[in-house]
Amino acid sequence: MKFQCITCSGTYSDTQPDGTPYFHGCPSETVQPAVFDATGKVTVAEVRTPLANRRDERIKPGLIIQDGKVYREVADPTHDKPPTLDPAVVEIISQGKGRTQIA
Ligand SMILES: [Zn+2]
Repeated sequence: MKFQCITCSGTYSDTQPDGTPYFHGCPSETVQPAVFDATGKVTVAEVRTPLANRRDERIKPGLIIQDGKVYREVADPTHDKPPTLDPAVVEIISQGKGRTQIA
């Protein structure tokens, strides 16, 4: 499926050409390029604007995907046993302003 990020307006597919998943992350800033005249002189300076409320589709730390299922690692409070894996749902780091499916 293809999406448009509402925060940065970027468009992307959730799958890369090789079939692996793609996790969108907004850039840290937007860039409005400089404008030059015919002699190469800058007539409008480049404008860089930090991007607020960025989308970050990376999976939250502490979640593990194993055999297609999502788990949260839970440490043993006594540290005598290895951590256990509790079933969980996928949570991304930040929704940003959301996304719209475009195809
Ligand atoms: Zn974005």
